[in-house]
Amino acid sequence: MILKEGSTRGFRAYGAKHLDDLLRRGGLGDDERLRIRAVATVLPFRTNAYVVDQLIDWSAIPDDPIYRLVFPQADMLPEADVTRLAGLLSTGAPNAQIQAAAHEIRMRLNPHPAGQLDLNVPRVGAEPVPGMQHKYAETVLFFPKQGQTCHAYCTYCFRWAQFIGEPDLKFASDDVDNLVGYLKNHPQVTSVLFTGGDPMIMSESVLRRYLEPLLELEQIESIRIGTKSLAYWPQRFVSDPDANDTLRLFASVVDAGKNLAFMAHFSHPREMESPIAEAAVAGILATGAVIRTQAPLIRSINDDPAIWSGMWRRQLTMGMVPYYMFVERDTGPQDYFAVPLARAYEIFRDAYAGVSGLCRTVRGPSMSATPGKVCVDGVAEIAGQKVFVLHLIQARDSELVGRPFFARYDPQAVWLTDLRPAFADRFPFDPPAISEPFVPFETAMASQRLPA
Ligand SMILES: *Cc1c(COP(=O)(O)O)cnc(C)c1O
Ligand code: SF4
Repeated sequence: MILKEGSTRGFRAYGAKHLDDLLRRGGLGDDERLRIRAVATVLPFRTNAYVVDQLIDWSAIPDDPIYRLVFPQADMLPEADVTRLAGLLSTGAPNAQIQAAAHEIRMRLNPHPAGQLDLNVPRVGAEPVPGMQHKYAETVLFFPKQGQTCHAYCTYCFRWAQFIGEPDLKFASDDVDNLVGYLKNHPQVTSVLFTGGDPMIMSESVLRRYLEPLLELEQIESIRIGTKSLAYWPQRFVSDPDANDTLRLFASVVDAGKNLAFMAHFSHPREMESPIAEAAVAGILATGAVIRTQAPLIRSINDDPAIWSGMWRRQLTMGMVPYYMFVERDTGPQDYFAVPLARAYEIFRDAYAGVSGLCRTVRGPSMSATPGKVCVDGVAEIAGQKVFVLHLIQARDSELVGRPFFARYDPQAVWLTDLRPAFADRFPFDPPAISEPFVPFETAMASQRLPA
């Protein structure tokens, strides 16, 4: 049961068909609204009445960070594309023509970054197991079929392709037996991470069907739920009809001896200010679950050290544990939101310097790239050469975890693929060069020069 508009108390979703009215309310002119609608034919748009009425400061648009978090911006896509789509919309072109143009633009936006479709999908024999990713030995990601939407969509979402009706880009499963079977065959897996979309879009009865079978498995030490519901719909844990049942379900996971971790996505301190968000956090913590927090660093939304230190301190006082600062992935409107790695590192360091050790559980800035999670530890001058110091927090090849390596300093680089090794002819995760020219790992994967 995917959440239908209005199917829980007070939840009201807004989609593309409401966009024009919402923007009108915000006082935007005809041309601006048309261009924003043009962008929304390519990228998903969804928000809800709580976000619109309680989180966004409409007197501060278009700069308001929560407005930018959920509303498409006219300049998020190349100008020529927006003009072309706006033209189709304003001349009343047939929907099929608009969709074809939108599809073509999407295909230029790297819809499945970091080899998600092919590289991390587990196989039983030659058969791919849908709805799962197994990239790091100890953790399996599971995409429950009913959890593949969110209470609102982030404009920078790296999973944006899932939310558009591009059927071959979707991967999700409703087969929990398959998951359990896979785990039994892979006893090294100790952690299952439910992700989406947002698993907390599911009702308690559906969520229970996924969680309960895992409680029987001794090998499972932790169950994680990746969610932005604490920001976008905290009512889920407070006033929704199944809020109490949901909290009881969480308590039963903890009672079964598992660590239940909420991987809560907060992009801005504003999301934690509302009394209902506070009540939701308190309710979840009272079940014995842990809330760890993470978000990407996004230009024009949270690219300021004071925002991050404010977030981490607020999270600490609310009983949450700061966990990751991510670098915006190489997909969708990355050009629009990207913060250069050199700047990302400065923002992280300045924020980190301003908080107590209790907040320094956070790690980053981290890139979830094909070889693993690559952390930018800093910029240094070594033997007269300016370099990035990096390490893998997580790696496909666990041998590489935690070993420092270096890249040539490049103030413009925004992603791992922009970096070139320093003091070496390849990165530790690149294949050894056998009299071949240097080929970065991701390029090699993309051009099928390596077996997956
Ligand atoms: C981040 C991530 C995990 C979890 O990694 P931790 O370091 O344990 O938080 C698991 N799988 C994938 C694909 C990930 O990107
Ligand atoms: S909540 Fe997560 S999955 Fe949903 S739109 Fe935002 S980033 Fe994407």
